[in-house]
Amino acid sequence: MKRVYNFSAGPSMLPLPVLEKAAAELVCYGDSGMSVMEMSHRSPAYEAIIGDAQKLIRSLMNIPDNYKVLFLQGGASTQFASVPLNLMNKNKAADYVITGQFSKKAYEEGKKYGDCKLVASSEDRNNTYIPQLTRWNFRFNRADYVHICFNNTIYGTKFNYIPDTGDIPLAADMSSCILSEPVDVSKFGVIYAGAQKNVAPAGLTIVIVREDLLGNARPETPTMLDWKIMADNDSMYNTPPCYSIYMAKLVFEYIQGLGGLEAMKAYNQKKCAILYDYLDSQDYYIAPVEKEYRSMMNVTFVTGDADLDKKFAKEAGACGLQNIKGHRSVGGMRASIYNAMPIEGVEALVAFMKDFAAANPKK
Ligand SMILES: *Cc1c(COP(=O)(O)O)cnc(C)c1O
Repeated sequence: MKRVYNFSAGPSMLPLPVLEKAAAELVCYGDSGMSVMEMSHRSPAYEAIIGDAQKLIRSLMNIPDNYKVLFLQGGASTQFASVPLNLMNKNKAADYVITGQFSKKAYEEGKKYGDCKLVASSEDRNNTYIPQLTRWNFRFNRADYVHICFNNTIYGTKFNYIPDTGDIPLAADMSSCILSEPVDVSKFGVIYAGAQKNVAPAGLTIVIVREDLLGNARPETPTMLDWKIMADNDSMYNTPPCYSIYMAKLVFEYIQGLGGLEAMKAYNQKKCAILYDYLDSQDYYIAPVEKEYRSMMNVTFVTGDADLDKKFAKEAGACGLQNIKGHRSVGGMRASIYNAMPIEGVEALVAFMKDFAAANPKK
């Protein structure tokens, strides 16, 4: 069967050359005589894989030497607890910005551990924008960290700037935008991301954390959630998500082969522009997000008629443009066009949108 264009928000498409390489190596990896899935994580062959993955992500993201990269399990959602457990250690206080469902979940989780203040929110306009934040939004001498979600997967918004939090460490959920473009890691205390949007199959969570923030986890922190313990053990305190890390390594190599994150960004900009330019050129579909906060990765739009939206998703699916239905909480359509979505997929989507609009005039 032919592969479809899969617009799923996650798990989502992986680059075809990566899948093909993994398939070729599936049964027998190199001269090991076994699959990566069957390998001891302490074997030299596997240590080379995880070591290369570490080196590659450091070089791709230009991660400074004073940051650790951890390969963990539990998904981004586990980090909603890990962040407060590891960082809410001085004043037992943190500042949160809500720009969508995941940042709200992070805030709710954080509240279990101390004084979490909601310092800004975009809920007043249905999360169609990103609040402008300055240092004065944050509780200087009080907040142990500030938490944001950099790209809002469900609403299709993205921070178009990095908030200045002064001396307060900035914690960012980058699950749906990591590796989509260069980012100045040094502006963050910690960056975390579930892998299943832009990096690898589900099961791997990447944490990039500044070293000086390690070692002061709260006493009740479960061993498995303590970043310092994971860092001291090179992410192998216990069995890591071996196969997902291997897949991540292949994806890192693939991105490096394209020319790194600058090249990736150029490709992603070109790709999302095809869709946004079309959306801006017509009035059948409505793109609710304010232009300057549009995500490159998740593009949301509606027809304004719930029945038509439903029909759209169904018919698009039948044409090989799958999983275009918006998140169950917001409805409408959402095209997740992560790194691995080819330009041809977006072109096919726009062609379908034109046909659909012509065939389904609004009353
Ligand atoms: C998908 C997603 C999550 C949830 O990730 P899990 O790995 O399923 O826990 C959290 N935050 C953002 C921004 C996401 O896109």
